[in-house]
Amino acid sequence: MSLLSTDSPTAPCGMPSASFDDGFSAAILFNQGEGLTYNDLILHPRHIDFGVNDVVLTSKLTKGLALAIPIISSPMDTVTESTMAINMALLGGLGFIHYNNTLEEQVAEVRKVKRFKNGFITDPEVLTAHHTIADMDIMKRTNGFSSVPITDTGKMGGKLLGMVTNRDIDFVTDRQTPLHAVMTTNLITANECSSLSEAFHLLQASKKGKLPIINAKGELVALISRNDLLKSQNYPQATKDDQDRLRVGAAVGTRESDWERANALVKAGVDVLVIDSSQGDSTFQINMVKRLKAEHPSLQIIGGNIVTKLQAHHLIEAGVDGLRVGMGVGSICTTQEVTAVGRPQATAVYNVAKYASQFGIPVIADGGIANMGQITKALAVGASCVMVGSLLAGTAEAPGEYFYKDGVRLKKYRGMGSQEAMTKGSSVRYFGEQSKILVAQGVTGSVMDKGSLRQYLPYIIQGIKHGLQDLGIQSIVQLHETLNNGELRFERRSIAANIEGGVHSLHSYEKSIT
Ligand code: 5GP
Repeated sequence: MSLLSTDSPTAPCGMPSASFDDGFSAAILFNQGEGLTYNDLILHPRHIDFGVNDVVLTSKLTKGLALAIPIISSPMDTVTESTMAINMALLGGLGFIHYNNTLEEQVAEVRKVKRFKNGFITDPEVLTAHHTIADMDIMKRTNGFSSVPITDTGKMGGKLLGMVTNRDIDFVTDRQTPLHAVMTTNLITANECSSLSEAFHLLQASKKGKLPIINAKGELVALISRNDLLKSQNYPQATKDDQDRLRVGAAVGTRESDWERANALVKAGVDVLVIDSSQGDSTFQINMVKRLKAEHPSLQIIGGNIVTKLQAHHLIEAGVDGLRVGMGVGSICTTQEVTAVGRPQATAVYNVAKYASQFGIPVIADGGIANMGQITKALAVGASCVMVGSLLAGTAEAPGEYFYKDGVRLKKYRGMGSQEAMTKGSSVRYFGEQSKILVAQGVTGSVMDKGSLRQYLPYIIQGIKHGLQDLGIQSIVQLHETLNNGELRFERRSIAANIEGGVHSLHSYEKSIT
């Protein structure tokens, strides 16, 4: 098949009419009738006149929500629970809490993120002095709190009587001991009129972990935390809402019970919902989007998954604020084998993004990302963000424990359409909930230890910045401009070129990932 270009760039001003016609615009490349994906492509370098740290990766996740980095973690039960979502948001991305759990469990995960770095925590868990250490143990297990204020009512707004911290209860063997027997009562507190910075100074001086904020009547109105203070200093790019809380997303399905789930998540403060389906162009999803938009007009809603312009048209018409693109391309996924339906990912992202950009709807390239170069390629073909699963599943912040196999430290990673995950409840994503026979569209596997997200993600981000610098491009907006005006030049890679582009001809080598 020939790739004849009809869109040669004009020679720079003042130059003889030598042709610099080289490579292909995306419009030409993606119109050859063959579905392409990231490894089929390579981008041509362009002139650089700025440093790598001048590259800014701010991008749109949805119509109404921007992120400092264009990476989000997938709503999968081996990828995103609150720890992942907290750390993704701290680093400027966002995590989507999976829904292969009960409504209460998913809401609790969202709450943990919203409460994580609050400045003033206005809704901490509170107990009475008559509760027991066992009650606090339960609270610690479900919410991860290490200290609890004690009020006369056991609620915020009650008179503050004391604080119980881990140090007060660690060595008490009788867990039925009432909290009044162990709580600290000589507390340093701040007045509700204090500014956040005044309160923080008082907290630093007190050398305590938490500082209760009280009103003139001695009633508890808020709490500030030393950990929050430390963390807020280190994460200037954190994704936060207007109340200084970390932002978080969550996934829901399209059943009646998901309507209830979605409303509970909104009440818990979720910032964006993704309607999770392997084939998102359905009446069920369209009705869910319309219903959610009618009830919560300002809630950001991402629809998907889709891979064609017509599917995008249906979801945009229903009112989505973002589109999740990818079908059958995830690392754990067998959809294309099982159903014969899907689309190679670069072609899918390019076509959907081209259509959706007319309406200002950002596209998330979901699945199939195995390295940072592929993130740059996804952005270069029109995605505003990438959603990743396997890339982050081996980090310390992903759910699950590490284990060893053949001397390698691993974590479990499974498709939400794997037999194992569907047995726990995720079959709804694959329209399998009413079926007696569950046909798997994913597998259960494992991924290598990637260390902490806090080192790994900044490493990936720096790699993407190098990619954009080599393209002579300083922002994702500029990247999309050059994509659309044809200045960004692509080329197909042959199988031999793919081999040449990787490490080759060595006896052995080591590859560092951070
Ligand atoms: P990865 O980043 O691992 O390549 O892909 C993650 C994406 O694969 C998820 O965001 C989701 O869209 C998709 N996915 C997750 N589990 C399954 C599954 O079991 N089957 C299929 N077809 N796709 C899956």
